[in-house]
Amino acid sequence: MARCSATLAGSRCGASFVRIPAAASSATTRSSFASHRPERSGTSPLSGSSASSSSWARTSWSAYDCTDADAPEAEQERAVERTVRWARRSREAFDRGVTERGGDPPRIFAVIQGGRIEALRRQCAAELAGIGFDGYGFGGWPLDADGSLLADALGWVAESLPADAPKHALGVGRADHVVSAFALGYSIFDCALPTRDARHGRLYAFRSGSAGRRPAPGDDFFRAIHIHDQRYRVDHSPIEDGCDCPLCARHSAAYLHHLFKVGDGSAERLATLHNLRFYVRLFKLLRG
Ligand SMILES: [Zn+2]
Repeated sequence: MARCSATLAGSRCGASFVRIPAAASSATTRSSFASHRPERSGTSPLSGSSASSSSWARTSWSAYDCTDADAPEAEQERAVERTVRWARRSREAFDRGVTERGGDPPRIFAVIQGGRIEALRRQCAAELAGIGFDGYGFGGWPLDADGSLLADALGWVAESLPADAPKHALGVGRADHVVSAFALGYSIFDCALPTRDARHGRLYAFRSGSAGRRPAPGDDFFRAIHIHDQRYRVDHSPIEDGCDCPLCARHSAAYLHHLFKVGDGSAERLATLHNLRFYVRLFKLLRG
């Protein structure tokens, strides 16, 4: 099964479609839904969009076929073809739901595939833009094998979409990657990294002099603090001077080090509040 091979509205990466070998069938129904809830088995991309309309999520996603960035070209081509086909059907099902439900409709986004192949990325973006969606996501794993952001691919996609369309950098979360993607035109992000890092004692802080300045791509504007390090056992300063989060406003790095060391549940909570506040501050700087 491909990682996050397709998703249903409102639960991105929460459900996957199983890839069935091409030889098995050539019909759309070759994709079936794998769910931990047996009663939902057999859901198709089309019924997924119908479900999204009935659940009335604030933002729905058209079904898509996600590939690894370095998958073979033939696989990328199939993913793009399938993504566009599913997106068209998702759009139609979504519109039927809007008509039936009435009221203030939610938004529906589509996701661009194509791996690291420029022509496919641009083709997928253009075809999905032709169908018309409220916004667009950059699909597929956004990093290379070394953990570097696929900035070239993000750029191709952004350039191929309407300039004023909201663009969602799916899975882009590292602060310097966010800055790079923002500069390319992406304004929506979601990633588990800030909270996951916090729970593991990895906290972010603006470098001295960077907290009030809008960072640009390539800037070395933040650092990571590994609170488990023994150096913090006697560090009575806050994680970051000037941070107004509940951790920094009241407690020292040494106190957080102690909380983690004794396994106090508030350690993860305070660290998470700090990291989330770091990102709020970062986005305030980026958006001016
Ligand atoms: Zn803080």
